[in-house]
Amino acid sequence: MLSTIGIHESVGAVFRPEALRDALEDIDPDVRIVSTGDLGGCDALVTLAYDNAFLEADLEWIHSIQAGVDRFPFDALESTGITLTNSTGIHGDAVGETVAGYMLSFARGLHHYRDNEADHEWDRQDWDVPFTLGEESVCVVGLGTLGRGVAARADALGMDVVGVKRTPIPVDHVGTVYPSGELKTTVAEARFVVVTVPLTDRTEGLIGTAELSAMRSDAVLINVARGRVLDQTALVDALETGTIGGAALDVFETEPLPADSPLWGMENVIVTPHAAAATGAYYRRIATLVRENVRRRDDGEGLANRVV
Ligand code: NDP
Repeated sequence: MLSTIGIHESVGAVFRPEALRDALEDIDPDVRIVSTGDLGGCDALVTLAYDNAFLEADLEWIHSIQAGVDRFPFDALESTGITLTNSTGIHGDAVGETVAGYMLSFARGLHHYRDNEADHEWDRQDWDVPFTLGEESVCVVGLGTLGRGVAARADALGMDVVGVKRTPIPVDHVGTVYPSGELKTTVAEARFVVVTVPLTDRTEGLIGTAELSAMRSDAVLINVARGRVLDQTALVDALETGTIGGAALDVFETEPLPADSPLWGMENVIVTPHAAAATGAYYRRIATLVRENVRRRDDGEGLANRVV
């Protein structure tokens, strides 16, 4: 049985740590808010950040409040005997809605008008710029929780949806699912390309010059996965040279996006601050995952969302 679960103060970047502590009041282990220097007595930790001090702290289990766990050192955790679980499964609706919002904004020109509003400017886009999503196609690269959330909403908006995943089995709301090896030909047809794969050794730089060059000149690239899945320098170049038509980006090679990044100033780029999954309900979803895994642990079952 676990005795104490620490909620690392870093979760405060996503929700109030006290909200999660209070939501877990009903479980047996004590739950307290902790900092890196104050992990004594904790056998489990719920965290956003990773610190090497976690390896020295007698922890049995770390739960990441994000789905992406690319910053955690899997080998070191394994050799220290610490189990790592992640939060995949809870972001499909929020990220799906964010991506639908990006696509609608490009179709209907909403970000363009919002920019003009700052200058009190009444200026319609040229007659042939606006379009409707029902006549357009989207390629979703990665069809897990995020990709399926995107596909369901794109399908509901009447779009032609195709997707790419490692194991190309049929997925609801996706017309055709292609294997990773066909990425370049699959992105070539789509008006929107949405990247929703985890960052791994295999996916780092997955979208680079070759893939961007294969895309349509009016295509919009959307990245809600991790910055390094995309070659950001190649993307800036593709946007500056008109190789593609635009981008909507929630994640970046360096976060926060540096103030001197050319991406900030591009009219055909929407930048959001790694906020695609944000919802006031986030802490409750994490509480549900943690509560379920405490139960599983007590009942001798394997933990859900186990990574290490
Ligand atoms: P899942 O594990 O549910 O899904 C991952 C999908 O990616 C699977 O369909 C998998 O394919 C596919 N995939 C993996 N490698 C490749 C590859 N080389 N080529 C093609 N497809 C591949 O993850 P989630 O959907 O929950 O999250 C995905 C990532 O999104 C997270 O790791 C995180 O980095 C990021 N994320 C970002 C958020 C934000 O706030 N912007 C919020 C949440 C997540 P297969 O099914 O065949 O194995």
